[in-house]
Amino acid sequence: MCRLVTFTSSYDLDAVLGTAREAVRVASRLCMRVAAEGPARLEKTGREPVTLADYGSQAVILGMVAAAFPDHGVLAEEGSAHLLANGGIPAVEAVAGLVSEISETHCTAEDLVRRIDHPGGRGRPVWAIDPIDGTKGFLRGDQFAVAVGILDDGGSVAGVLGCPRLTIGGTTGVMVWGGPGLGAFVEPIGGGKPTPIGVSPIDDPAAVRVLGSVERAHGDPAVIESVVRRAGLGGGWVRIDSQAKYAAVAAGLAETYIRPRNREDWRERVWDHAAGAAIVTGAGGRVSDLDGHRLDFALGRTLDQNRGVLATNGLVHELVLGGLGEGV
Ligand code: AMP
Ligand code: MG
Repeated sequence: MCRLVTFTSSYDLDAVLGTAREAVRVASRLCMRVAAEGPARLEKTGREPVTLADYGSQAVILGMVAAAFPDHGVLAEEGSAHLLANGGIPAVEAVAGLVSEISETHCTAEDLVRRIDHPGGRGRPVWAIDPIDGTKGFLRGDQFAVAVGILDDGGSVAGVLGCPRLTIGGTTGVMVWGGPGLGAFVEPIGGGKPTPIGVSPIDDPAAVRVLGSVERAHGDPAVIESVVRRAGLGGGWVRIDSQAKYAAVAAGLAETYIRPRNREDWRERVWDHAAGAAIVTGAGGRVSDLDGHRLDFALGRTLDQNRGVLATNGLVHELVLGGLGEGV
């Protein structure tokens, strides 16, 4: 008998999720430490703001990924060159000190740069990392998220969101995680038992609650208002920063998150959606672009073939897509 043997690298998704959860927990602790001290903003024209916590968080996460899964692929938002250009050696040393303190292992300036810039390997899966999603919210004292998505086969197979300022089920400061076929869970960000979560059962348009971005440039509020009107969504609409929006939909706190593209040339970044999309799907919801197409995570750093993003409890997905109308 002739048997065709193919070699594929396989991995243990539970082990990957275990490392991702621990990394997000430690990175979230670092972010809240920086927040308590009043985070300094490092800015470069034409870019989103960034703080020392963005680099510290990325170093914590990628340090753990490099140690546990050196051959896994990596897509991460930050790089050490900008930290060095804007803050110089003192900023690098300050972040290395923070990482040492929070992770209780000594991290030199050289270690820090190596961790932030860990390029990953060529193996499966690929880690999509946003060390602080919603930096503007982080700086304002509003919502932000430490986001890790696990990509494979063009999709997001699992995600972890650290949301230190989000309240779910009476707990403020939560970690939400899950993925397609895995379910979705919430646990206290400081550690504790995971509890299953699920999307809202609401399908009556009059009760549908809508989430959008605080930043107008990240999703035109006029478009959201027109969808709300056309589809008769009557539960109210709220603007919050970061993938905390996905966490809220996954936990049944809202029925839909609408992210219209407000610039023709804008392509969504994979690390802004990888974690959240997996979790909402795991919680029983649905995620697509505004044309109803699945998000294609196989195209590098951006969702090049998708236009906007829509996450819902599934029940109201077609209703909201219909409300978008032509040309939106
Ligand atoms: P949010 O907190 O939901 O407003 O999203 C924050 C993310 O928006 C950041 O991590 C950026 O990657 C992303 N972003 C930056 N510029 C734009 C833009 N013009 N349209 C959509 N998203 C953007
Ligand atoms: Mg982001």
